[in-house]
Amino acid sequence: MVGESGCGKTTLLRVLARLYEPTAGKILLFGEELPRRLNRKEELKFRKLVQMVFQDPFASLNPTKRISHILERPLKIHRIENEEQILKNVLEDVELIPPESFLEKFPHELSGGQRQRIVFARAIITKPKIILADEPTSMLDVSIKSGILNLMLKLKEEHGISFLHVTHDLAAAKYISNRIVVMYAGLIVEEGDAKEIVNRPMHPYTMLLREAAPDPDRGSSTTLVDVGEPPSLIDPPLGCPFEPRCKYAKAECKEPVQLREVDGRKVRCVLY
Ligand code: SF4
Repeated sequence: MVGESGCGKTTLLRVLARLYEPTAGKILLFGEELPRRLNRKEELKFRKLVQMVFQDPFASLNPTKRISHILERPLKIHRIENEEQILKNVLEDVELIPPESFLEKFPHELSGGQRQRIVFARAIITKPKIILADEPTSMLDVSIKSGILNLMLKLKEEHGISFLHVTHDLAAAKYISNRIVVMYAGLIVEEGDAKEIVNRPMHPYTMLLREAAPDPDRGSSTTLVDVGEPPSLIDPPLGCPFEPRCKYAKAECKEPVQLREVDGRKVRCVLY
C-alpha cells in the first residue's frame, strides 16, 4: 500500500489490525467477514493469525526486558509451549546468528536493523498467516533497508506469510510486492500488479509518485511538494481529491470519481 504521509494508509492498516474500530465497510479474513467487535477468544485467534510490525524498532521493544523475555511473551499469551529451541529457531529465521548470543541481550545493545529483526521474530513466533507491516524500513539506514526487505521476501517464500506492506517508497513496493494499492486522500486511486503499476502507471498521482522517486539513472526532477500539498481529510473535496495538483484536470473532475476496472487493474480517474 503506497502513498505519501497523511493519505490514510496507516489508519487503514490499524483498522485492519483491529487497533481502530472501523466506522464503515467490512473486513474479510480468508473470505469471512470479521465482526465489528471481537470477544476475547476471537481476538486471540485473530492476533495469532494476523501480526503487526511497526515503523519504529526503537519504540517497539520494551527496553527493560531481555530478548528472550520479549520473544516468550507471545508464546505465553497464546499458550504455546515455550522451549528455548523455539526461540533459537525464530532468531535463526530472522538471520540473527548465533541465536544464543542474542537471547540475553537488551534491545539497547542491538543496532536498529537487529532490533527490527527481533520485531519480525516476535511477529512470526506464533506462525501467523498475515503480517501488517507499517513502513518497517523507514527509520533504518539505506544500507540496512534492503536486508529487511529481503528478510520479508524470505519469510513470505519460506514461511508462507503474506505481507501488507505500507510504504511511501514505490521502488521498495515494486521490489517485494505482487500487488500494489496506491492511496490518496483516504481513497484507493489505483490497484493492480506491482510491476505493471510501477512500469506503466495510469493514475496521474501514481505517475507523480514515480517521477518523484529517487532514481540513480535518471535522477528525480520533480518533488511531491512542487505540485502542492494533499487536501485535508477533515474536509475532503467532493470530486477527485487529486484535482488541485493534477495537470490533466478538467471540469468533470469536480464530481465524485469511481474506481473502475481498466486493462486488468483498477483506476479512479476520468481519463480512463
Ligand atoms: Fe486528474 Fe481528473 Fe484524473 Fe483526478 S480524475 S486524477 S483530476 S484527470
